[in-house]
Amino acid sequence: MKRIIYCSQATYDFSPEELVELLEVSRRNNEAAGLSGMLLYSSQSFLQVLEGDPAALAATYARIAVDDRHVNLRLLQEAEVPAPLFPDWTMGFEDVDDETLAEELVGFTPATEYPLVNPDLITNAGVAVTLLKLYGRNRIR
Ligand code: FAD
Repeated sequence: MKRIIYCSQATYDFSPEELVELLEVSRRNNEAAGLSGMLLYSSQSFLQVLEGDPAALAATYARIAVDDRHVNLRLLQEAEVPAPLFPDWTMGFEDVDDETLAEELVGFTPATEYPLVNPDLITNAGVAVTLLKLYGRNRIR
């Protein structure tokens, strides 16, 4: 199986409703394509890992890459991997900035406790994987 990790900048500040819509479409498509992954959103930045069959992954990333809701996509990792990081999630998700969630959800980790998902700070795939795992512990399914 193959893994890609990329970060990008949203072209506008997504509302919770817009994020939910994005997630619903992603989860539907990813389930059909047998892909799993995780998406972080913070300060108008995205960090996403997607894993699965190489052809399905390439087709999905090609769609994502031309989506005008984000720009400056930076591919941090594209590699054959033995096992997925998040096998059970068609698209795990964290809105790292959401203070309301921090208050409501037991176990939710507010952004202040971990580094922000700032593309400028994500210098390599190792940093990206660490962040994804960190936030993935408290994900919204
Ligand atoms: P459709 O059913 O044709 O449309 C899906 C819905 O998305 C529509 O209701 C429409 O309202 C909305 N939409 C599409 N484009 C725009 C736009 N430019 N502006 C506003 N609304 C829009 N897709 C995946 O399949 N898997 C992923 O993991 C995934 N991750 C993404 C991560 C990010 C950060 C972004 C920005 C997009 C991601 N997408 C993902 C979405 C992807 O870019 C395509 O929009 C989607 O795959 C199209 O699927 P579809 O043909 O079934 O969509």
